Parts: sequence; C-alpha cells; structure tokens
Amino acid sequence: MSGPDPDAILYESPIHDQGRKLGGELAAAFGAADHVFFREAARFEPLAPVLSGAVGDPDATMDALVGLGEGCPNGGMLLSLGAHAFAVAGAVAKFAPDGMRATFLPRLASGSLIGAFAATEAKAGSDVMAMETRYGETRNGYVLNGEKAWITNATQADVFVVFATKDVRLHSRGISAFLVERATAGVTAAAAQVQGSPGNASLGTVTLKDVHIGREALIGRLNAGAQVFRHAIVQERILLSAFLVGSIRRALRRSIEHAQTRQQFGAPIASHQYVSGRIVDIYRRYATTRLLLQYGIGRLDLGSATEADASLVKLQCSEAAVESNLDAFRIHGAKGFETAGSEGLLDALSSVTYSGTSDLQKVIIAAALGLQP
Ligand SMILES: Cc1cc2nc3c(=O)[nH]c(=O)nc-3n(C[C@H](O)[C@H](O)[C@H](O)COP(=O)(O)OP(=O)(O)OC[C@H]3O[C@@H](n4cnc5c(N)ncnc54)[C@H](O)[C@@H]3O)c2cc1C
Repeated sequence: MSGPDPDAILYESPIHDQGRKLGGELAAAFGAADHVFFREAARFEPLAPVLSGAVGDPDATMDALVGLGEGCPNGGMLLSLGAHAFAVAGAVAKFAPDGMRATFLPRLASGSLIGAFAATEAKAGSDVMAMETRYGETRNGYVLNGEKAWITNATQADVFVVFATKDVRLHSRGISAFLVERATAGVTAAAAQVQGSPGNASLGTVTLKDVHIGREALIGRLNAGAQVFRHAIVQERILLSAFLVGSIRRALRRSIEHAQTRQQFGAPIASHQYVSGRIVDIYRRYATTRLLLQYGIGRLDLGSATEADASLVKLQCSEAAVESNLDAFRIHGAKGFETAGSEGLLDALSSVTYSGTSDLQKVIIAAALGLQP
C-alpha cells in the first residue's frame, strides 16, 4: 500500500502531510515571518479559507494547521501567521464595511499585506477592556492616541486592527475597532526584546500619536468594538490551538525516535517504563487535544463557538503542549538543550500567556459554569 495508512495510530492525512512538509520548509527558509514567508504560506491551498478570515472545511483546516504546527519548530512564525489570519482577517471578514473588506481582505489573504491585532497595553493585559488608548471624533472621522504593548507582527505589519476607547470608565461599552495603515502619520512601532523562538513573532509596541483616520476606518459599529474583539479572539484561540496540537505531535515523534535509538543500561531507553510511560502520556495528550480541537473547529464552522468553548480548547491545548514538550525535553537528556527541544518548550510556554493566559481562560469557563458573576 502506498501513502499513509489510515489505520495507523499516528495516521496523517495527505493534507496534514503537505502542511508538515511546508512547515519544515518555511522554518528552514525563514527566521521570522516576513512578506515572503506570508506569500509562501498563502500558496498552500488548504490555508486559503483561514487567510480570508473564515474556517473552510473543518477537517481540511484542522489537518493543514496541525500539520504546519508539527512541521514548523518555529512557533514565533506560526503565531505571526495566526494573529494575521485568525484575528485580523477574521475581524475584517466579519465586521468590515464592504469597501474595506474588498480593499484589504484579498491582500491579507495573499500575504501581500501583513496584519496585526493591537488590543493589549502595558496596563491592560488580562483586563484588556481597561485599555487607555483613546479615540476622539473629528469632522471627517477619528483621532487615536495611545500605546499598544506585546503586539504580534508589530514591526512587520502593514495594517493594524486597533482597539480604542471613547472613555476608559465605560470599559467594554466604550471600545471601538479601527483599521489603521502603518503609513498613516503618527503610527510608530518598536520591537520588544524576547528570548528564543517566540521572539520571531515580531513582537513590539505600537504607538499612536494624533493618528487621524477617516470614518471608513471603523470596523463594526461605534462603541461595539468588544463584539469585534470577542469574535476575533474566539476564532484565534481555537485555531491557534491547532499549532499547539501539532507541536505535541512533534514532541511525540521526536521522543519515540530518540527513545528507540538512545541506549542506556544496555538497551534502548524506550524499554524503560518510566520513559515509555512518558511517551504514552504525550500520545494521550495528542489524541485528546486533537478531539477537542475537532469539536472547537466544528463549532466555529457552525457559527456556534462560545467564549467558553474557545477558552476550553486553548487552555487544554496550551497546557498539554507545555507538559508534552517538557516530557520530550526530559526524554532527550542533555540533548534537550539543543535548539529544537528547548524552542518547542519555550513556544509552548509562551502559549499559556498569548491570546489570554490560562488563568483567564479558567475565569471565562468558570463564568460560563455560573461560578462567577
Ligand atoms: C508571545 C505573545 C504574543 C502576544 N500577541 C499579542 C497580540 O498580537 N495582540 C495583543 O493585543 N496582545 C498580545 N499579547 C499580549 C497578551 O494577550 C497578554 O500578555 C496577556 O493577555 C496577559 O496580559 P499581561 O501580560 O499584561 O499579564 P497580566 O494581565 O498582568 O497577568 C499577570 C498574571 O496575573 C494573572 N491574572 C490576571 N488577572 C487575573 C484574574 N482575573 N484571575 C486570575 N488570574 C489573573 C494572569 O493569569 C497572569 O498569571 C501577546 C503576548 C505574548 C506573550
């Protein structure tokens, strides 16, 4: 029989296989995600729906993203792609006025424009709706002032989805979302210094100083930016999790390979049950997070994914990615300090913070369970 065996415990579909190979090629060719990287990624057809802010066929999308996540050991670049597609294109596809959507969405989808999702600030992280970046109304549109912190793609992006408040005391009721082009007077970005692979996400601060934009730059309704934020973040949390499931699968494959070849005490270390038990744990996490992801992407496709659904998927996948990459790191002994091992772990660690911390996901789930007001 040629091709993958659908009965094999680690079966991978042809789309998964293509995604995995592409992920490896992209990681080998690029250090950080730039325009050429985005255009190369956009050539992979199964990614077309998500790059246009949609879900597409749920199974094909899941396989393509998990495959990419497995093949690409550079989680920073995947985060760049995810913020661009799942949050920025997602917000533009659903809420942009027709003119903005027609102008920007095809260019975001082809990778000729890079997008960044600028919500959090130095003093407004988990409590993002406490943001202080302000918008004021002018005769022709709006003026923005403030500073966004920890923004993926900050130093590469051509367009920013910027969230700003009319009055900080209004919290979520005062927020609006705007599309701001980098070339607009008053927009500057500075790189954040981040160690390891997560630093390849072009993280940085975005400063807006008397940035004048027209009325057509508004995304969604005025003061309904929290709705735009929620839609984008639900999509981002679920779809970014696919890269983490891929990272668990990579940890599994690397661990199996190492355990079968590394000899200690006269036998492959795989024959020691502490080692094989760890590998079974990684497999258990891979198999269960994949099922949960399938559920989440299915709900996204139906348009019924809730914030609690997204938080559950993100919480489970990021925590499982940390544990699994830590297990793989242990199994590799001193070799774990070589780049691939330590970067998988660092990427997984960054996932318990970006797109909302694990604690925040628990806060959202607890509220859905009626445990908090
Ligand atoms: C790699 C990376 C990429 C990012 N990309 C983007 C981006 O593209 N766009 C964007 O807008 N932001 C981005 N962020 C910012 C990210 O969303 C925030 O870092 C995150 O929401 C946490 O905010 P904070 O760092 O200010 O931590 P804090 O909010 O200060 O949290 C500190 C600690 O307190 C805990 N905590 C806070 N509030 C509660 C609570 N109510 N209950 C329980 N525990 C709580 C947190 O869980 C955490 O452990 C990125 C961050 C990283 C690390």
